[in-house]
Amino acid sequence: MHADRISIPPEHPRVKSLYTREMLVDGYKRGLVAAEGLIAHGRGEAYDYLIGERTTKTAQRAIKAAAGMLLLSKRPVISVNGNSAVLCPRTLVELAKVTGSAIEVNLFYRTEDREQAIKAELETHGADNVLGVGSRASATIPELQSERRRVDPEGIYSADTVFVPLEDGDRTEALVKMGKRVVTIDLNPMSRTAKAAHITIVDNIIRAMPAIVEAAHEIKGSRSLRKIVDSFDNKKNLRESLKIIRRGM
Ligand code: ATP
Repeated sequence: MHADRISIPPEHPRVKSLYTREMLVDGYKRGLVAAEGLIAHGRGEAYDYLIGERTTKTAQRAIKAAAGMLLLSKRPVISVNGNSAVLCPRTLVELAKVTGSAIEVNLFYRTEDREQAIKAELETHGADNVLGVGSRASATIPELQSERRRVDPEGIYSADTVFVPLEDGDRTEALVKMGKRVVTIDLNPMSRTAKAAHITIVDNIIRAMPAIVEAAHEIKGSRSLRKIVDSFDNKKNLRESLKIIRRGM
């Protein structure tokens, strides 16, 4: 999105948050974001306000563990929805490249037009093999109903680790039941996704994505990758995030 299409004064105290909203509204108009995605972002914003709109030390620990988990995996897949494609297409593609992950479009509100629009957005930012679009999503996640269960047999279905930023609880729980390692970004440490995932980054995707890419570059090839991942305790991390939120009230 071009800065000249929006008119937020740069000195506005909430400029970043307003700019993010504009990106999502623009993404909605371009057919990438579902109307429901705009509402979901609002829920995230409320937590971000309480966290102080910053990447906490607690989130930084999860970011490093997430990068480590993706680097250690044999078949990591990054699951992309409309909100994430609009907010951080470049860093999603970069993360896929540095960690050797596949990228799959996976939507809660699935339509082929939206899938194609998201695929095109990712390709514009350098992705070369976007999975999960149209008839490619021919496998199913057990226990989920209708269109929400469709995944790519070469992607999420056969992945060992799935990175699902901004995911819904049902699908996260179903992926965990399938035996996948699940990594997520969710500003709400109380969501079912946050609790079900193995690694939850409680941070805004806008800040967390560049930080994971940086962490992945830093620790790639390190001999302590396993230690970084194994020493991470998601429950403890979520408790610490909740404390930060309580202090923000
Ligand atoms: P769950 O189904 O996991 O219990 P939910 O019903 O609240 O949670 P959804 O509405 O499906 O979840 O997904 C939105 C989630 O994404 C919310 O938990 C929200 O806090 C989070 N979220 C929204 N925008 C962002 C963002 N920009 N960065 C990080 N998290 C976000």
